[in-house]
Amino acid sequence: MEKMQQVVGRARAAFRSGRSRPLEFRIQQLKALERMVQEKEKEILAALKADLNKVGPSAYSHELLAVLRELVRAMENLPSWAAPHPVKKDLLSMRDEAYIHYEPLGVVLVIGAWNYPFLLVMQPLIGAIAAGNAVVVKPSEVSEKTAQLVADLLPQYLDKDLYAVVTGGAPETTELLTQRFDHILYTGNSNVGRIVMAAAAKHLTPVTLELGGKSPCYIDRDCDLAVACRRITWGKYMNCGQTCIAPDYILCHPSIQDKVVENIKETLKEFYGEDVKSSPDYGRIINQRHFKRVLGLLEGQKIAHGGESDEASCFIAPTILTDVSPESKVMEEEIFGPVLPIVTVKSVEEAIEFINLREKPLALYVFSKKKQLIRRVIAETSSGGMTANDVLMHAVVPGLPFGGVGQSGMGAYLGQYSFETFSHRRSCLIKDLSWEVVNKVRYPPGSMEMMHL
Ligand code: NAD
Repeated sequence: MEKMQQVVGRARAAFRSGRSRPLEFRIQQLKALERMVQEKEKEILAALKADLNKVGPSAYSHELLAVLRELVRAMENLPSWAAPHPVKKDLLSMRDEAYIHYEPLGVVLVIGAWNYPFLLVMQPLIGAIAAGNAVVVKPSEVSEKTAQLVADLLPQYLDKDLYAVVTGGAPETTELLTQRFDHILYTGNSNVGRIVMAAAAKHLTPVTLELGGKSPCYIDRDCDLAVACRRITWGKYMNCGQTCIAPDYILCHPSIQDKVVENIKETLKEFYGEDVKSSPDYGRIINQRHFKRVLGLLEGQKIAHGGESDEASCFIAPTILTDVSPESKVMEEEIFGPVLPIVTVKSVEEAIEFINLREKPLALYVFSKKKQLIRRVIAETSSGGMTANDVLMHAVVPGLPFGGVGQSGMGAYLGQYSFETFSHRRSCLIKDLSWEVVNKVRYPPGSMEMMHL
């Protein structure tokens, strides 16, 4: 307990010193982070390989390049994000200055998850630094090599007191959560999300919860199946299915189910070759616990492709399940592994109803040649974000916020949205002391009816 109090106390004292506020300082710290990613590229990639067997260009682009892009975006745009934002004035405030001033919140806690272990702590950290806060980072202990590396590297590049790293799992995080923070951004499952929110409530600390869920993928009959299935295969089996916005399951008409299977099988061969296990581009399940959980979801299912596994290396082959019952276990929980169930529906209406009967997902995908059908699905469902005729890609469009809704989370971040999440929008009005005669309208006696109070 002592240790957590000290870490947070040091961050708070450093925040109170005011040194995290000037924009030059923030940009200098972001530059240092950029240098860290560039200089320690090899070490970061080695940790990702050790934790998740993430290798090659995809490891670089999903974790490092995405962080570098977020850094450039923050450094380039910070002056305009942080500038006072004048608002429209009325008769009473015509001669005054009225604007929104973005001010830092104080000490921010960032709790990361293991599936993109570097990215998921770095992106929020970038936003919190850009907004002028002190930050305590708690990477996931499940991806322990990356967690240790983050703990080793950050103090080498950043202000040590303002930006601290705490390592450890549930006991350490539980202790950390007894401390008072000014904002908490948590990424992970919704059970722990509830724990985080309850702990935050004790201090009235606002939270951003980046959770998960079962992201549906509806394929319309009127669609280029080869293209649709190639894109779905990419997003589903990337990182061995352990991507929060991966398409969790497919909804399609029974008449195209077999073609969907065939197209995905062909793409799998194209991507990973005849022997997936030896493909350098195919990942592994993070640990034995998740390996057993994912395999358990196959019980009683019709396996149209895949199903092979190797416990020692936590390998599960890309798997497709057909004619899946909506009541089965694999349709209850988020799969978070390389298993793709297909549930057949007779129409888009049925697909919409199916989606709406379940919790609001983090992402939703729809493939169709008909724009009108796509717009209808958007209008009649809800999800954190969505992409039509592709998967995952809404998460990399610079101007779009990233976040969930309902059970898939609350709040959003990335780019300017991170800056806003970690800032207080302070309403500022600066009047001068002259023109007192105008104010007579609001002073008693008698003139109160002129005010809209
Ligand atoms: P995890 O096991 O790494 O846990 C997340 C964090 O919670 C870790 O830092 C861990 O130490 C902490 N934690 C665990 N138990 C705790 C407890 N009892 N009290 C306090 N803290 C505790 O990750 P996970 O939960 O397995 O992550 C997978 C889930 O996260 C999936 O549902 C996935 O969809 C979701 N996810 C969401 C996003 C997003 O951006 N929305 C991104 C990645 C993952």
